[in-house]
Amino acid sequence: MGKPTGFMEYQRELPADRPPQERIRDWQEFHLHFPDEKLQIQGARCMDCGIPFCHTGTLLSGMASGCPINNLIPEWNDLVYRGLWQKALDLLHKTNNFPEFTGRVCPAPCEGSCTLGINEPPVAIKTIERAIIDRGFAEGWIRPEPPQKRTGKTVAVVGSGPAGLACAAQLNKAGHTVTVYERADRIGGLLMYGIPNMKLDKQVVQRRVDLLAAEGINFVTNTEIGVDLPAAKLVEDYDAVVLCGGATKPRDLPAEGRELKGIHFAMEFLHYNTKSVLDGAASDRYLSAAGKDVIVIGGGDTGTDCVGTSLRHKCKRVVQFEILDRPPAERQPDNPWPEWPKIFRVDYGQEEAAALYGQDPRHYALMTKKFIGDEHGCVSGVLTVDIEWVTDPNSGRPTLKEVAGSEKVWPAQLVLLSMGFLGPEDTMVEQLGLARDPRSNVKADYEQYTTSVEKVFAAGDMRRGQSLVVWAINEGRGAAREVDRYLMGATSLP
Ligand SMILES: Cc1cc2nc3c(=O)[nH]c(=O)nc-3n(C[C@H](O)[C@H](O)[C@H](O)COP(=O)(O)OP(=O)(O)OC[C@H]3O[C@@H](n4cnc5c(N)ncnc54)[C@H](O)[C@@H]3O)c2cc1C
Ligand code: SF4
Repeated sequence: MGKPTGFMEYQRELPADRPPQERIRDWQEFHLHFPDEKLQIQGARCMDCGIPFCHTGTLLSGMASGCPINNLIPEWNDLVYRGLWQKALDLLHKTNNFPEFTGRVCPAPCEGSCTLGINEPPVAIKTIERAIIDRGFAEGWIRPEPPQKRTGKTVAVVGSGPAGLACAAQLNKAGHTVTVYERADRIGGLLMYGIPNMKLDKQVVQRRVDLLAAEGINFVTNTEIGVDLPAAKLVEDYDAVVLCGGATKPRDLPAEGRELKGIHFAMEFLHYNTKSVLDGAASDRYLSAAGKDVIVIGGGDTGTDCVGTSLRHKCKRVVQFEILDRPPAERQPDNPWPEWPKIFRVDYGQEEAAALYGQDPRHYALMTKKFIGDEHGCVSGVLTVDIEWVTDPNSGRPTLKEVAGSEKVWPAQLVLLSMGFLGPEDTMVEQLGLARDPRSNVKADYEQYTTSVEKVFAAGDMRRGQSLVVWAINEGRGAAREVDRYLMGATSLP
């Protein structure tokens, strides 16, 4: 433990973000860096707890509590405090293949369960993680490390999101020859084409992909398994196949007027926006929010990314609808530490909209009743009604009740549907005849990852449903361990 009294002497401090008015004019990342001395002070706040809840990674009330990949957090907090950055980096890489991703985009369940968080702001774990890995790259400490020996076994990984990449990285380390198939034109899954550039710079993603390629992983893009190549062919050609295709089927909103032009799924907007930014030219599927009233339906991370992206397009106005009530400002008695705190948060997109328009773009407890069109068949507005959540006396479950006379029409020329995802797409799953779980995800037990078909494994969102980057890394690593055991009879992968 760096400094036994650190948690009493120092306050939590985070590096500033670029001012909203400035950052909405470009696509660059908005988090700034801290100098070493400040990071060391933040590391000194860690109490090196006997039971480090930050590190545990369990599910409490259905939400992650602590780090899902069991990062060795108290250890690297101490090393950063003592200025031993390279040692901290070695320790960080032991549990996390891609700290540069989690250090930027993870909601940090570690901080939600940090013991200091009981009565003080928690240790700035995510900021420290990012600083360690960014320093590692800046100092040139991170170099390709191809395996010394190859086993002669071959593995196909389908999907190049964080689950597929973590799985490929681990299997390659074990000496297997790994080929990653991706239907998009760039590798990275939602790291590349979901999370926008201002939150995760695509050069950061590409830097890691290049490193993995230099270590010997083969990447095949523009190839959709089940369409360009039958899924069964992979099973025939490889010693094992790992499916990491994500949970990309979007939830629709079948209200009257849904067929109008100008109503799109969020991912269409986000994917082709990033592609256009990276290509330096508008893709033919690019959707512009410029000069439009934009309505984002859905209050999660994807919705926030739509808000931030619309602002950078110079939309006229953007609002965000959420069907649930506004969360409380502080933990409630039924949500105690070390559970993930279900509290009101202001993310980057809302902060930017508030800076521009003077108010948070979110409207809570609001239900979309109907899309209104103009004479050209284009959306021109959205009709909503306020709702109240009441407990059903029979089932005890919360049910919604419309508030009479609360109908309102909002102007809209672009509507983005961002209400979550319904599970994996069908093509590969049906071609291979894979069993599904009750939520339509590919059926494969956690920690086992074996599907109902011999040789075929599944991991990440495709197995667990839409989740977090850190869970995808956890599952990719775990699936690699089980594939290695399957191929070799034993494994030393963690
Ligand atoms: C807009 C958005 C923002 C998000 N923001 C965050 C965030 O800030 N923090 C966070 O922790 N999580 C975030 N998430 C969730 C996170 O991105 C996912 O949980 C994570 O990427 C899942 O990883 P994965 O590898 O399982 O799948 P994905 O990242 O979805 O990757 C799956 C890949 O498989 C490819 N694929 C699918 N089928 C085939 C096929 N048949 N053949 C070839 N390739 C195929 C897809 O093209 C895709 O590239 C966000 C999600 C979205 C949608
Ligand atoms: S729970 Fe917080 S204070 Fe305790 S070891 Fe983890 S980071 Fe340090």
